[in-house]
Amino acid sequence: MLSRFFAYYRPYKGLLMLDIGCAVLSGLLELGFPMAVRSFVDKLLPTQDWPLIVLATAALLAVYAANGGLMAVVTYWGHKLGVNIETEMRRKSFDHLQKLSFSFYDNNKTGHLVGRVTRDLDEIGEVAHHGPEDLLIAVMTFVGAFALMAMVHLPLALITAIIVPVAAFLTSRYGGRMTKNWQSLYSRVGDFNVRIEENVGGMRVVQAFTNEDHERRLFAQDNDRYRSTKLAAYKIMAASTTLSYMSMRLILIVVMLAGAHFVLVGELTQGGFFAFLLLVNAFFRPIEKINAVIETYPRGIAGFRRYTALLDTQPDIEDSARAVPAPALKGDIRYSGVSFGYDPERPVLKDIDLTIKAGSTVAFVGPSGAGKTTICSLLPRFYEVAGGRITIDGIDIRDMTLASLRRQIGIVQQDVFLFGGTIRENIAYGRLGASDAEIMEAARRAHLDGLIASLPDGLDTVIGERGVKLSGGQKQRLTIARMFLKNPPILILDEATSALDTQTEREIQKSLMELAEGRTTLVIAHRLATIRNADEVYVVGTGDGLQRITHEELAKRG
Ligand code: ADP
Ligand code: MG
Repeated sequence: MLSRFFAYYRPYKGLLMLDIGCAVLSGLLELGFPMAVRSFVDKLLPTQDWPLIVLATAALLAVYAANGGLMAVVTYWGHKLGVNIETEMRRKSFDHLQKLSFSFYDNNKTGHLVGRVTRDLDEIGEVAHHGPEDLLIAVMTFVGAFALMAMVHLPLALITAIIVPVAAFLTSRYGGRMTKNWQSLYSRVGDFNVRIEENVGGMRVVQAFTNEDHERRLFAQDNDRYRSTKLAAYKIMAASTTLSYMSMRLILIVVMLAGAHFVLVGELTQGGFFAFLLLVNAFFRPIEKINAVIETYPRGIAGFRRYTALLDTQPDIEDSARAVPAPALKGDIRYSGVSFGYDPERPVLKDIDLTIKAGSTVAFVGPSGAGKTTICSLLPRFYEVAGGRITIDGIDIRDMTLASLRRQIGIVQQDVFLFGGTIRENIAYGRLGASDAEIMEAARRAHLDGLIASLPDGLDTVIGERGVKLSGGQKQRLTIARMFLKNPPILILDEATSALDTQTEREIQKSLMELAEGRTTLVIAHRLATIRNADEVYVVGTGDGLQRITHEELAKRG
């Protein structure tokens, strides 16, 4: 996992070198200070040469100014490195989300997924900003300070080193627990993101049912759970911070006593004593840092685990190795022995055979839950057949690239999903880059031109989130306009009008028939009027598969 993390630094070798170089230089300058103090006290002070003393402090000032510059470089360029990596990871996550199949989205909640691309990566970014150079500086300061301490006075240095096993103990005791804690904290945040998402998204339903208190209670549960997980994390932090602080101060006191003794017996100069105390501080700093590390690293690690888990999720449905772009399809569709179930244990479709001639319209009727939508979802390969095969114009759909297949199939469903932008943007979603004239022509054919003309902003009218500012019929017309623009040879109409009132339904039905003109069309309908124009009608039964039925029989059965 670590090598996978460091792979992200590869494109930024230059930045990393600069960052680390400056950080190392800055660390060395800091370590030099105690030694400068020793010379200052032991050598410079006894000379009583005031101009020289001023000159020496001026030199020190210059060194610090330079160090300040180095720190600015480390802060800005180090973070730039982290931000670049974070951006790249965010791009990759989003990119991967585009590839994952319907089944993935069936089983994952939006709030959790949003967290993957936002919060998780913030945490990783934070570690990536500080990770490598902090670690390097810590090790360098630690080793460097110890070497200098040993140089100044070896026995005193050995006394100070007692802290090392203590620190190691604290890290091993609390580090792992902290990682686990942050991991569960993440899923808690995910839980309430989901809760907020659903609540805010469904606020109209919440208020219509006056279930605000119920929602508040549900949220309070998640919120409390998050609170206790977080408190547990801070309890661990409090324990480890206090223990390491107290042991460090204790050792410092011991060093002061022992140091005073060595000064009195003449083994250590006063300058050496000063320098030593400063070095002890430098030596402790990386250890104190361990607490910060115990807090931030586990978050980064937990975030990175979730990030890699997402990237490692293979899409169920991808272009196969032999897939080639489909030619322009006529729409001769054939299902042979098709079986499928969302859960392999519970098949929805068993051994379905179906032939649809190019340019014809077939209707599917049957009880709700029989599998009508499922039959149609297999055609654009939203789900993969478990057995049998589907061909269009004699080509197995698995031998076509997904993009070339899906580009040639248009779907109009009962629940319309519109984006929050303008009417223009929503129609143009059918074919990105379409001209205004083409968009207007599509709108006209969907009988949307009247509405557009009546709006002060026309095509630029913003339709609200998911199109809340439009009526049901207007929304459906917008998707039909989208379809005219997409102009696919194959069309699926899945209960496209069932959410509408009778009058609107009749009008939209007319538009849909105009849309279906000259295309191979699969219609799922629950009203007789809708299927009257179909060339063939199939009854989809629960369990007993597909049955062709004549119009007379259908009329007889009602
Ligand atoms: P219809 O369109 O005829 O009403 P569907 O094709 O939507 O029926 O559903 C057929 C069966 O598959 C139902 O039992 C339904 O519960 C189930 N089903 C539909 N979609 C999914 C899904 N995404 N995941 C799991 N089961 C599903
Ligand atoms: Mg359905």
